[in-house]
Amino acid sequence: MGFTEYYRAFPTYTDLRSQEYKKRLDDLEPLLLKHMKRRGRVLDLACGVGGFSFLLEDHGFEVIGIDISEDMIARAKRYAQERESKVEFILGDAKNLPFNDREFDYVIFIDSLVHFTPLELNQVFKEVRRVLRPDGKFIIQFTDLRELLPRLKESLVVGQEYWISKIIPDQEEKTVVIEFQSENDSFRVRFNVWGKTAVELLGKLYFRKEAQEKINDYSYLIVYQLK
Ligand code: SAM
Repeated sequence: MGFTEYYRAFPTYTDLRSQEYKKRLDDLEPLLLKHMKRRGRVLDLACGVGGFSFLLEDHGFEVIGIDISEDMIARAKRYAQERESKVEFILGDAKNLPFNDREFDYVIFIDSLVHFTPLELNQVFKEVRRVLRPDGKFIIQFTDLRELLPRLKESLVVGQEYWISKIIPDQEEKTVVIEFQSENDSFRVRFNVWGKTAVELLGKLYFRKEAQEKINDYSYLIVYQLK
């Protein structure tokens, strides 16, 4: 059970040329630029294969991407070579960032909450606060899984090959195991369930909300400044 199969199965997060990845870039590009008017140094936290790092580099930002997965970082570096990009991709943990205090004008954190328990996300937020400059911004985008889950019907087709064959929440609905099935195989992934309210409660401890954007029924972007 794990994210390795999940990321192997869905190009949404791993193939920059896929329609699914391109759609995510297209949806977020205007919103990111709206809230990132001043050029500067950006940390792409949990950058995956780096699509958002490249997007911001193309708009004149200096970007560093960090991710805990060797496979993601290797792919990001391959894409960087292909594009002759200057983005630096680093293997590392969002809970313990290998940067000095106040190094970044922006930290972006896109579509990655499912990987983090509440304790872990608390640690991540502390680290973001530490590495941001006093006038920096923290931009987080996430899906409200708590809202989405009850509406996620089993048998929903996701991607071209897989459908959801089981949804198994734990008792307190803090995590959910989703089983994905195709003609040939099946696998299960355990996601941390984050709702907008919980993200905001945690965010309040460290940041001041500057703006919020609704991307679709279940997806939000929140812009934070340091308190
Ligand atoms: N932000 C990228 C994007 O939107 O394409 C990647 C999103 S992907 C759904 C979530 C990423 O979080 C994965 O690449 C995973 O390896 C990374 N991740 C999970 N735990 C992490 C941690 N503790 N530190 C850094 N990255 C982590």
